[in-house]
Parts: sequence; C-alpha cells; structure tokens
Amino acid sequence: MPRREPTIHNPALVVTCPRCGSVPGALCYDTRGSRLPEGRVHRDRAAAHRDRKTA
Ligand SMILES: [Zn+2]
Repeated sequence: MPRREPTIHNPALVVTCPRCGSVPGALCYDTRGSRLPEGRVHRDRAAAHRDRKTA
C-alpha cells in the first residue's frame, strides 16, 4: 500500500486555530501575516484537534 505524505490536508485544519484565528480549512498565519508552509499548523491547533477527538 503506497504511503501518502500529508500536504495541505493536515487533519488539524478542520478546527479553528486558537493561536492565529484561522478558520477551519484555512492555513495558519504567523504574527506577520505570512502563511505557514503547507501542512504546518500551530502546535495549539494540533492540540485543539486532538482535544476535539477525545472530548
Ligand atoms: Zn494557527
């Protein structure tokens, strides 16, 4: 089975980022308004996604 590398479809993108306020489906932005590299989100957002699954 081929391995799929995550690109823009980071699972954490389904939640709103508590750090930068990016809405679900939107990439994170840093403090200067620059978009984070595809597939990268703030640690808080990844945590929020995890909490969402367990809560
Ligand atoms: Zn963010």
